[in-house]
Amino acid sequence: MSQSKREESSSEPPLKFVQRRDDITGDEYDGQQRVEMSCGHAVDPGSLTAWCRSLMDQGHFQLCCPADVNDKKCGAQWSYPEVRRCASLSDSEQREFEQKLALLAAKLYCDFKECPKCKSLVERKEPTTLRVLCTVCASVLHVSYEFCWQCLRAWKGSGKPSDHCANTGCKDPNLDVLASCTTKDLPDSEVRGCPSIRACPTCGLLIEHKEKCKYVVCSRCHVEFCFACLDPAPACQAAKAGAWFKWCAKPLAPRQSHIPVWSR
Ligand SMILES: [Zn+2]
Ligand SMILES: [Zn+2]
Ligand SMILES: [Zn+2]
Ligand SMILES: [Zn+2]
Ligand SMILES: [Zn+2]
Repeated sequence: MSQSKREESSSEPPLKFVQRRDDITGDEYDGQQRVEMSCGHAVDPGSLTAWCRSLMDQGHFQLCCPADVNDKKCGAQWSYPEVRRCASLSDSEQREFEQKLALLAAKLYCDFKECPKCKSLVERKEPTTLRVLCTVCASVLHVSYEFCWQCLRAWKGSGKPSDHCANTGCKDPNLDVLASCTTKDLPDSEVRGCPSIRACPTCGLLIEHKEKCKYVVCSRCHVEFCFACLDPAPACQAAKAGAWFKWCAKPLAPRQSHIPVWSR
């Protein structure tokens, strides 16, 4: 547990333990202490963890109480810190939860941005271009307003570029991350000096290498790729039969200077 989390939890009120049935599973009280949540329902730490994990697996990042109240769900929203405390999440579970929640939120927010002119949320219909026409400006204000998805200023330039517009300083900050990330030797392999962060070759999501294996499954597009050569995993494996987990037939792909655009 990090220092900041320890300080945070010591300033929080103590957990309230009750001797009641588990309102998530409906299991009667069996001598096992249950934790009372902010909405008043009692849960077993294990079933709380399992329930929240199932919510995230279904793509939800708001953690809601499923307890039955007159044939309806309680629906109260629990904050992540509350779940972390009441479920007594381990360090690895905390990492898993934090990553999943952040990715789910990013998924929702990466397709919507605020129009700099009318301030309404606009969906980007064509992910391959930064040039976005605000449909609200067009229908409500009757003006044709285009803005840049990246620098969020009025559109400048021509064509439909995917990397930057003609406004000064319009640059994807993720490019700086790719250019400056540390390098690492991938464990249990011959791959040395590999950038620790890659942009997914399919969708462009930035992914940090954390697992042991050089093959990584992208959490956004779910395509598995090789962190060393950046080929899709089946192609990398086919090129080097046998010890394909140890090295690649292809040379180590250099740092990326371009972020692939996902065409869904
Ligand atoms: Zn509840
Ligand atoms: Zn607008
Ligand atoms: Zn721009
Ligand atoms: Zn991806
Ligand atoms: Zn490879």
